[in-house]
Amino acid sequence: MAFNLAMYPVSYVAQYNPETDSWNESWIQADSVHYDELVAMDESERNAIYAKRNRFDLPLVNYTTQYALGCFEGMKAYPQKDGSLSIFRPEKNAERFYNSMKGLKAPAFPPELYLKASKEFIRRNRELGYMPAYDAEWEKDNFSSASAVYMRPFMYSEGAIGIGVSREPYVIICATTVSSYFKSTNSKAVVTDRIRATPNGTGWIKCASNYVVSTLAKKEAEDAGYMEVIFLDATKRKYVEEGSSCNIFFYLKNGELVTPELGDTILPGITRSSIIEFARAEGIKVTERKISILEVASKCRECFVTGTAAGISSIESITWKGKEHVFNNRVPGELGKRLQARLKGTQYGTVEDVNGWNVLV
Ligand SMILES: *Cc1c(COP(=O)(O)O)cnc(C)c1O
Repeated sequence: MAFNLAMYPVSYVAQYNPETDSWNESWIQADSVHYDELVAMDESERNAIYAKRNRFDLPLVNYTTQYALGCFEGMKAYPQKDGSLSIFRPEKNAERFYNSMKGLKAPAFPPELYLKASKEFIRRNRELGYMPAYDAEWEKDNFSSASAVYMRPFMYSEGAIGIGVSREPYVIICATTVSSYFKSTNSKAVVTDRIRATPNGTGWIKCASNYVVSTLAKKEAEDAGYMEVIFLDATKRKYVEEGSSCNIFFYLKNGELVTPELGDTILPGITRSSIIEFARAEGIKVTERKISILEVASKCRECFVTGTAAGISSIESITWKGKEHVFNNRVPGELGKRLQARLKGTQYGTVEDVNGWNVLV
């Protein structure tokens, strides 16, 4: 299982106060069970503790639960050899979260608070033994089975029933442990007829509502034997936009690495931007532009998707209108593997962090 609700004991909750124009911050500690004690427990005892940790005293009926006015972030902290943890480019998540809240017309959470709370979050949970330690074994498979802390900051509205925008939102930071994201054994993708994002819509916001269509489309793809689903643009039904919750790259036979250009229908992924920079540093020509599914079918030699959850995941083929287009004889390509090694190595501290992206706690 990729994600589970093995939640960490300490969470952060802040709420905006419009009267003082400030955020009231607090720390919720569900219990003081040290990680070593938890591991020694039997499963039912452990699950009872996890269940308690997933309960927050927050209003149930509100703009988030009723009308999906909510947004979130996915951010990882990676264990380092020296015992510290590195949050990867958290200022980018802070900025995107700010933009998402603004996009939902809520008072936006200041990036400085986001960064400060994220670091303090790691410290407080670490005191209770909840941070994974670096394991040199991970280097053997290039960190594909490595542990990390998955942090999930999200916005949650105040109690409300009439339709409206949130004026006193909460911001919560919690975390779970993670393992590898894609559980399926194949890496086939299929183009869906469903539309994830429309022009002038919310596709660029990391908001809950975008996940309705992508979850349905991904389920349909999985039921049909694929791992991933690919969305085309809403108007021309021609250009590739994204995977279900990840950005997409095509390495063409002419040596050009193409990823769809940002706009209001594409989520500005932080892994996407990191991969663009890594590839350019290798001297590869990277182009952010529209790319049609026809061009992909005829010119692409290697395809992969990117996101915090998986890093880089190779795509062996894309099926479109019933025809399967296979890339690189169905095996992960050299470029994707090299960029993944660079990304993971940087995150786990075995490759020099030339861009200064790791924030050590
Ligand atoms: C979060 C997300 C991504 C990936 O963004 P990262 O910052 O790389 O994790 C891509 N597409 C969608 C729709 C997303 O929600």
